[in-house]
Amino acid sequence: MARLSQARLQELNHTLNDRTPEELLRWAADIFGSRLAVISAMQMAGSVVCHMVAQLKLGIPVLFVDTGVNFQETLTTRDRIAAEYGLAVHTLLPELSMEQQTNQFGILYLTTEGQEQCCHMRKVEPLLTQKGKYDCMIGSLRRADGGKRGVCPILAVDPEMNTVRLNPLANLTNDQMKAYIQQHNVIINPLHDQGYTTIGCNRCTTPVLPHEPKRAGRWRHLGAAAQYCGINPTDMDDATSVSIDLPQDLVDRILGIKTDFMI
Ligand code: SF4
Repeated sequence: MARLSQARLQELNHTLNDRTPEELLRWAADIFGSRLAVISAMQMAGSVVCHMVAQLKLGIPVLFVDTGVNFQETLTTRDRIAAEYGLAVHTLLPELSMEQQTNQFGILYLTTEGQEQCCHMRKVEPLLTQKGKYDCMIGSLRRADGGKRGVCPILAVDPEMNTVRLNPLANLTNDQMKAYIQQHNVIINPLHDQGYTTIGCNRCTTPVLPHEPKRAGRWRHLGAAAQYCGINPTDMDDATSVSIDLPQDLVDRILGIKTDFMI
C-alpha cells in the first residue's frame, strides 16, 4: 500500500483544472475501473453528474443515502434517475429508523451537538458500510456554491472512507449548469422550483428567500452554527492535512507516474 495525501494531489489538481466534467469522468473511469461510484443526494448538481455518467455510458453505480426523512420529491427524483437514465442506484439506509433513533436518543436535530450525531448516524454511517468497495467516489460539489465549497478541489482524499473524492463539476458556473440542464432536459428535484436552493432531510431543510445565502435553508433552526453534515470531507476544517492508503500501482496511475521498469 502507498500513502496518498491531499498535498500530493496538489499538482494533479492543477493539471486537471482545465478538464471538462466529462473529461474528468472519463479519466476517473479509466483510472479506477469498477471501484468507482457516484454519491448523490438527488439535488440539482447530482442530477447533472448522473446525466453525464449515463450519457457517457460509463456504467458507474450511484449511491444514495436515504436518511428515512428525505422529502418524497427527493425519492421520486432518485427513482426517475434510475429508471430513465438506466443507472444502478443503490440506496443506503441507517441502522435505526428515525422513530427508533428518537426513542433511543431523543430528537437530536434540535441541538448543534445532536445534529452532528444525527447526521453521522443517518448519513455518514450508511456510507461507511461501503468502505472497501470503492477507491474513488464522485461527488457534485461546485466552487460556485461558495462558503467552504468556494475552494473545493477537483480531487480530494477522504480518510474516513479511504477513497479519493472527485468533484467533476468543481469549475462549473451557475450559468453553465443552467445551460446544461436546459439543453439536456435533466431530471431535477422539483423542490428546487419551490425555493429550496439545497435539499437535505425534511426535518432540517427549508426554502430560502431571494436575498438569503444558498445554504440558509439548512439547519435554519440552529442558526449559523450548522452548515454541513460531514458527508463531504472537504467541508470539514482539517481537510488539507489528511491522507489515505491505496495500492501502490493505483497511486502511481492516479499521479501519472510511469511504473515501467526492468527487474
Ligand atoms: S439533516 Fe437533520 S434529520 Fe437529517 S441526518 Fe442531519 S440532523 Fe438528522
